[in-house]
Amino acid sequence: MSDRCNFSHWLALEGLRATPVRLAMLEILGEASRALRAQEILELIRTRRRVNKVTVYRILEDFSRRGMVRKLSLEGRVNHFELACEHHPPHPHFQCQTCREVQCLEPVALNRMWTELRGPLGNRADHIEIRIEGLCHKCRNIS
Ligand SMILES: [Zn+2]
Ligand SMILES: [Zn+2]
Ligand SMILES: [Zn+2]
Repeated sequence: MSDRCNFSHWLALEGLRATPVRLAMLEILGEASRALRAQEILELIRTRRRVNKVTVYRILEDFSRRGMVRKLSLEGRVNHFELACEHHPPHPHFQCQTCREVQCLEPVALNRMWTELRGPLGNRADHIEIRIEGLCHKCRNIS
């Protein structure tokens, strides 16, 4: 990931004001090496600024509706979120069945499938998701 998004520019393209909270949320998601739960995003943003939970959750839902953020429909009650910009194309996920942490896997092969699906005829691929379940290294060491 050599390149990075210009978040202010991205928000402008979406017709959204580049508020400090919106920018901080995109930065947090952009820096994350794994998919984050809404609660984790809230905790991270609170290390930077005061913000109420409703605001963060509302912005997250809005980003997700606009396709700026991917909401992963994984097992379990809580959703995980990640940035859906050009630098973060769709990729498979590994979820630990014990701690529920979600790791992002290399998108290479999936990229090809995605491109092929859109192909010369132009199918419209809207959503692709591959989930691998198992036990993460941290949980394996405990048991
Ligand atoms: Zn980006
Ligand atoms: Zn685990
Ligand atoms: Zn991911």
